[in-house]
Parts: sequence; structure tokens; C-alpha cells
Amino acid sequence: MNTADRYAAYLLSNYGAPALTLVKGHGACVTDDAGKTYLDFCTGIAVNALGHAHPVWVRRVQEQAATLAHVSNLFRNEPQSLLAEKIVQKAGPGRMLFCNSGAEANEALLKLARLHGKRRNGGVEGVVTKVVVAANAFHGRTYGSMSATPQEKIQGGFRPMLDGFATGRINDLASFEALVDERTAAVLVEPLQGEGGLTVAQTEFLHGLRALCDRRGALLMFDEIQAGMGRTGKWFGHQISGVRADAFSMAKGLGGGFPIGAIWVAKGNDDLFTPGSHGTTFGGNPLACAAALAVFEVIESEGLLEKIAAYAPAWRAALASTAAARPDIIKEVRGVGYMTGLALTDAPAAFVAALREAGLLVAPAGDNVVRLLPPLNATQAELAESAAIVDRVARAMPAAPAK
Ligand SMILES: *Cc1c(COP(=O)(O)O)cnc(C)c1O
Repeated sequence: MNTADRYAAYLLSNYGAPALTLVKGHGACVTDDAGKTYLDFCTGIAVNALGHAHPVWVRRVQEQAATLAHVSNLFRNEPQSLLAEKIVQKAGPGRMLFCNSGAEANEALLKLARLHGKRRNGGVEGVVTKVVVAANAFHGRTYGSMSATPQEKIQGGFRPMLDGFATGRINDLASFEALVDERTAAVLVEPLQGEGGLTVAQTEFLHGLRALCDRRGALLMFDEIQAGMGRTGKWFGHQISGVRADAFSMAKGLGGGFPIGAIWVAKGNDDLFTPGSHGTTFGGNPLACAAALAVFEVIESEGLLEKIAAYAPAWRAALASTAAARPDIIKEVRGVGYMTGLALTDAPAAFVAALREAGLLVAPAGDNVVRLLPPLNATQAELAESAAIVDRVARAMPAAPAK
């Protein structure tokens, strides 16, 4: 039996059949079991922030694994304290809670919202509980985060959902104003929708949400799981608009490939969780925190945020010129920084497969978007190569029938 056979025999079929078996990676490249190498702009869905096997990341993980991997939160460990300090320096005055994935981080935000609602309602729980989210949002697959994800393809088959969620539309402030009321505990949005298809929440809209939440006493919470950790060129996506968050979640790029999630909670709300009110066995273990500290170390020492700001415009312009050459295939370039995508005129499967064939791995999103998610340390040559592959593949696509 090979890997694919064992997948078919022994793994549940919730993922469909993956196209490739990957065996090793180096920098922005990965190699499959047939020995073919690809430029990896899927990056494990925005996870491999430093690409594959970055020497600093490898060394930090190896050193920590050989020193102390796990202790539980019954004891302190230094890497967790250092990582919390580091993130608070980037995010603003507040405190951290660590967990193991994106969905789990959003669960913590939803529990924070309940505690906030209870406090606001004079200590009586169960009344101020509504959470308003955005259409096309993606917040995860656990019951709370799935209930916060108003998409049939996510929720179908698993109802009843948790109640108390309402759905506005991104960049439509009036749709949120109609839903945020005295029973609303929080608004939860992605500053830049990832799975939903790279819709950017506009600055005026986010400031409008801020004012609305302030008026109603609701928390403004961001899901930074995909847009965070430098991917947009800022540490966190909402920092582009400068809007103040009450709390936000992060995961994906945080550990550079090691599973870790977290929430940051602003000063003033950082006393809502009290001893015993929440927890996780693995969260914040020294191995995961050492991996995340290595990601911060490399982003800073290699000046990666500055590089993203410097390199992204030319890369996106090259993609835009391909879109202009094949408007029957590519409608527009979407997103920000290294969270960039192409909105296609059709479902993305054929285009994704053609790019893979040509040596470029990307991630589909929504109904018609392909995401290009370079590692944050991609070189200009790698970015240019990705754009050249996209151009070649797009120009070779058969003409789409006029619609
Ligand atoms: C990936 C993602 C999640 C879920 O994270 P998991 O680690 O898969 O649970 C939640 N929100 C956003 C915006 C994401 O991109």
C-alpha cells in the first residue's frame, strides 16, 4: 500500500481525495512523492509563514523539544510568557490566552463574548448573548465557530446550530446597525475574509462597526486567524485601518507550521476570564510557543513586513496584467499583501489543477477564487515566477464561453 491507498483505507473521507502526496519542503518549495517540485503558494493555507524548514525555526523547535515540550497550565513555562509579551507588544495593551487551533481560538472569543454579556447585564447570564457575524465568514468547524459561520456548506447536516447568531453583510454598515441591539454581546468579523473569497473589510466600515459597538456596549472582535501574523504587511489585518479591537483570534501563521492558536484581549476586558473559567491541556505549551517565537524572531530579523510592503505591489500588478489579458478567465485581483487572490469567472478547480501541473500550488476559496499565499519570506524571484506561471496558465486556458 502507498500513502494514497492508506488514506483511502484508513482515513475518514471528510477531505475528499487530495491531489498530491508531499514528502519534503525547503523554503518556498515542496516536493511530491514522484520527485516533482512545486512553488508552494498554498503554504498549508497561510500557515507556513517562513516557508518550509527555515533554519532558525527548525533550530528553535529542536532545542525546545530537547529541553521541555509540555507541562500543562498547572505550571508556568518561560516560552509562553515570552510569546504573550511579544504579541501584546504588537497588538496593544491587553493579555493573551493560548490554545491549539483557529476554531479553538474563536471558541474562546465566543466564551469571552458571553462573559462580557453577563457582566453588562448586571451579572445575569443568558440575556446579552447575540453575536453578529458577516455573510460568507469562515470561523471554523467546532460547534461554536461553525454556528458563527453562516454558510450552508459548513452547517449543512449538523443542525441545530448554537442559537444567538445573526448575519450582516461585510461593508454594509446598515445591515449590522439593524442587528446590533441591547442583547448583542459582540460583533465578530474577519478584517479580510479568507475562505469566503478575499473580501476586504473597508476602513470606513470597520470604524463604523467600532462606533456601533461602542454605542451598544458590544465587543468588537476580529478573526485574524488567516489575515494576521504579517500576511497583509501589518502584524494584524485590522491594523491597516487602525481600528481598535476589543479582542481578536489568531492561529494559522502563528506557529509557522506548529499548531497553535491564541486570543488577545484588550485591557479592560482582560479580567473576564477568571481562574477555572476556561482552559486547555495543550494550550501554550513550551514547544508550540518556541515555534511561534521563532516566527516572530525571523519576521523581525529579516524585515519581512517591510519586504511585503516593498514586493507586493509589483507582484499584484503582474497578476493584474494577466487578468487584463484574460478577462474571460480572471475577473479581478483581490485581497491585500500576501493574501492575494484571483476572482475567476468560473469555479476554481480546473485553474488550480492547471497551476499545479505547471508547478504552482495555490488554495481555492469561496465559489470562484484562487488564493496565492506566499511564505512571508518569498523572494522577489519567487513572486515573479508565480506570476509568470499564472500568466502562462491563464493564457493557455481555452476561451470561456461568453456569459
Ligand atoms: C482557518 C480559519 C479558521 C479555523 O482555523 P482552524 O485552525 O482550521 O480551526 C477560522 N477563521 C479563519 C479566518 C480561518 O482562516
